[in-house]
Amino acid sequence: MAGHDSTSRTFAHEGLAERSIAVLGIPWDEKSSYLRGAAAGPAHIRQALHSSSSNTATESGLDFSDEQRIRVLADLDLEAGDVAFETIERSIDEVLGAGSRVVCLGGDHSVTLPIVRAHCRHFSGLTIVHIDAHSDLYDELDGDRLSHACPFSRIMEEGLVARLVQLGIRTLNEHQRQQADRFGVEVLEMSRWRLEDGLPDDLEGPIYLSLDLDALDPAFAPGVSHPEPGGLSTRELLDILQTLPSPLIGADIVELNPLRDVHDLTARVAAKMLKEIAARMLQDFPA
Ligand code: MN
Ligand code: MN
Repeated sequence: MAGHDSTSRTFAHEGLAERSIAVLGIPWDEKSSYLRGAAAGPAHIRQALHSSSSNTATESGLDFSDEQRIRVLADLDLEAGDVAFETIERSIDEVLGAGSRVVCLGGDHSVTLPIVRAHCRHFSGLTIVHIDAHSDLYDELDGDRLSHACPFSRIMEEGLVARLVQLGIRTLNEHQRQQADRFGVEVLEMSRWRLEDGLPDDLEGPIYLSLDLDALDPAFAPGVSHPEPGGLSTRELLDILQTLPSPLIGADIVELNPLRDVHDLTARVAAKMLKEIAARMLQDFPA
């Protein structure tokens, strides 16, 4: 446990150069409603990234490992309890304040709230593209307003972003439909959406991407706590990423649960998405 030591920790100690893309693990799953395990996600994503079964080339032509401006940092050292949200927010704020941008690896989806809170201090008029089987718009779950089922309700209540567009959604109940209406969330439901529909034509940057791996069909990504059939293919997800408007200024990849994974399939999907997202953010962030 870092305890209060984490307040004095600075990323400068890790050699984070200005205008780089930091990859930061957030090993946290206390807000998971059904299964724990997502706290081990960041370590498994890094392991898949560095597996010699693949290389680190990206589809954009840029090589993840060759880029001096992409820096993989150590995982955050988090306290138990809700105080961890403050550590997450402060740590992201520190990276952004040092002139870098960040891709966070979860962890359960609750971490997106403190991450977005920090981003809002550095970017105005943000649009979140949230890709998930679930809208995560519950007002509370099991009495907890910080549950991984709730982050987008808090983000919208706090007025942190200009726009929230959700894709991959296939579990809306009446409460979450009401919440989406109340907050003006644009929900592209999986039942009606096809790849050729793409994203809304008037979507503009700056974009923050929040990627819950359960947006993918369980056939492509079984290693999640809430597998939901009828989802995206890995190829569709990559195509969506490649058509996001610029600039893509930040992202998270959340909800990998290595305890549920099969032959590291989902960790490999996450590692591929990490490479592609980081490459895209770098292209959108001139030196
Ligand atoms: Mn989900
Ligand atoms: Mn989610």
